[in-house]
Amino acid sequence: MADGSPVTARFDPYAARAQFPILSRTVNGKPLVYLDSAASAQKPRAVIGTLTGAMEGSYANVHRGLHTLANETTEAFEAARESVARLLNAPAASNIVFTKGGTEAINLVASSFGQSIQPGDEIIVSEMEHHSNIVPWHLLRERRGAVLKWIPVLDDGSLDMAAYAGLLGPKTRMVAVTHMSNVLGTINPVAEITRLAHAAGARVLIDGCQGAVHARPDVQAIGCDFYVFTGHKLYGPTGIGALYGTAEALEALPPYQGGGEMIETVERERVTYASPPHRFEAGTPPILEAIGLGAAIDWLEGFDREAVLAHEHALYDHARARLEGVNWLRVIGEAEGKGAILTFTVDGAHAHDIAQVMDRYGVAVRAGLHCAEPLAKRFGLTSSARASFALYNTVEDADAFVDALIKAREFFA
Ligand SMILES: *Cc1c(COP(=O)(O)O)cnc(C)c1O
Repeated sequence: MADGSPVTARFDPYAARAQFPILSRTVNGKPLVYLDSAASAQKPRAVIGTLTGAMEGSYANVHRGLHTLANETTEAFEAARESVARLLNAPAASNIVFTKGGTEAINLVASSFGQSIQPGDEIIVSEMEHHSNIVPWHLLRERRGAVLKWIPVLDDGSLDMAAYAGLLGPKTRMVAVTHMSNVLGTINPVAEITRLAHAAGARVLIDGCQGAVHARPDVQAIGCDFYVFTGHKLYGPTGIGALYGTAEALEALPPYQGGGEMIETVERERVTYASPPHRFEAGTPPILEAIGLGAAIDWLEGFDREAVLAHEHALYDHARARLEGVNWLRVIGEAEGKGAILTFTVDGAHAHDIAQVMDRYGVAVRAGLHCAEPLAKRFGLTSSARASFALYNTVEDADAFVDALIKAREFFA
């Protein structure tokens, strides 16, 4: 607990950290303390090397050549799809659609599934959603007359499950909820949420942009119809994410975008579409990015994932314990079993100013609304600061964070 996270036989954070070249740089003359991984994570050599290696050694367009480079690249691209399926415990690689990120994956489902939405159909989201899991559903409200219903968040940062049960009904078509909040760190009971939604006849989409990295993204145990995540928060490149869907749920979705690769035949008067996942991958996909994501997942699999999560939690607990009883600090979100995200406000100082002063000490934290304006409103905030812990952070980082925070507060006091 308060002694931080030591090196154990199961996980050595110092060895993991050494694989991230960027983490040895300085910022404002101080060693970098990177605590903004919930916004985007840094990349290990395994990913950097795979990207460089592909560009230097074997690259061509996928699925359309008979030549060696096209075949090699197609193999690497499809192997990445297998890696994603393993990460999520999906039944098969055909359950995985590559997208350019978490946002695009949710938009894919919203606009495709949304074609069957009738005026008055209800979509349930929660107050803790990222804008990416709100605005695509708002578009269905504006365009098709869907009604948005909101699961309230309780004071501790957990979902009001009793209120959720009361929102479900015969008009509920979709429940779209985050696995783990990017602000509160709350890990939601997504299997229970799914079970209740299915009992009401609704589809379920889980936003796993944080959960795929910092929780247990087992889609079969969760039972959801759709699960989305993004590569750049999982130590992979930007420009890549994935949508998992059950075979039945994907088969029921009409095409999202039109173009090459997503068709079976194209004639003057008619077109037929390829089966999932290719039906949803129009045009040249983000080939290098997908291969880089595959490398990130394969690299992550080299760690004991449970030990990594325990390490992240220990860092959170260490920082939290050092700040216990500090009367100028308000911590937002302390739900049971939450992930390693520490969001806070400081009395008498704006979160942006706190973050800027902390940067002078080399400590990178985020400040603002964190793309979750309804949640900020729920807690009566116009902004907050956030420190998010990842596998490469150490107890020295957690201490540097607390020390910089105390100095920043003194600066404004
Ligand atoms: C980052 C994030 C998103 C958006 O994903 P992008 O791939 O960056 O578009 C959505 N939901 C949550 C919870 C996130 O943390």
